[in-house]
Amino acid sequence: MTETRDQDNQENDGMTAPERLAKIRHEVAGLSARVELIAVSKTFPATAITPVLAAGHRVFGENRVQEAAEKWPDLKSSFPDTELHLIGPLQSNKAAQAVALFDVIHSLDRMKLARVLADEMTRQDRHPKILVQVNTGQEDQKSGISPEETADFIRDCREILNLNIAGLMCLPPQQDVAGPHFALLQKLSQQCDVPLLSMGMSGDYEEAIKFGATHIRLGTAIFGPRTAKL
Ligand SMILES: *Cc1c(COP(=O)(O)O)cnc(C)c1O
Repeated sequence: MTETRDQDNQENDGMTAPERLAKIRHEVAGLSARVELIAVSKTFPATAITPVLAAGHRVFGENRVQEAAEKWPDLKSSFPDTELHLIGPLQSNKAAQAVALFDVIHSLDRMKLARVLADEMTRQDRHPKILVQVNTGQEDQKSGISPEETADFIRDCREILNLNIAGLMCLPPQQDVAGPHFALLQKLSQQCDVPLLSMGMSGDYEEAIKFGATHIRLGTAIFGPRTAKL
């Protein structure tokens, strides 16, 4: 665990996580009636998550299968109607665990993983929604299908694997203005005829909603700064 020092920011607002969530919910309702708020609880312990569950929120995101498997079975037994989203990269050897634990997987980014997920979904008879991660910034270090290959990839998932793709997800390059990336993802979702658009984080969710986000992924804006390095 590495301590970061840039914690002295606006999240140091004296509000609790449920209060921040209520404020954002109110604000988002003014922008769009339909967007789902995913509370990204990665790095936060169960003690930080429970108050948000107790306040009635049920949609959460984690970026690591292992961490989610340690925290969520207990939390889900107390709050069984919780919907859990995997928003981080998925290794094929964790696909079985991911299919068992998550309700939505945002990070499908290669054919091999699509195959393993399709097999596991049949084997477990459990059908999380699957979103394809698109590397809208064409960054070498970032996972995701390139924008030009997205339509073919989705067609192959459907036709070869009989795997339904529910939507697209992107994570714009940190140094870029996010709007053009959201616009590109929206355009691809229309071309590929997939309904869900997972885009927008704490710093840019208002912008994402303008481009039709159906799911925004909020960590810091709800839970405050993360002290653990990811
Ligand atoms: C951590 C994370 C988020 C949330 O980021 P914040 O800036 O804290 O809102 C959203 N999406 C993904 C894929 C993440 O890994």
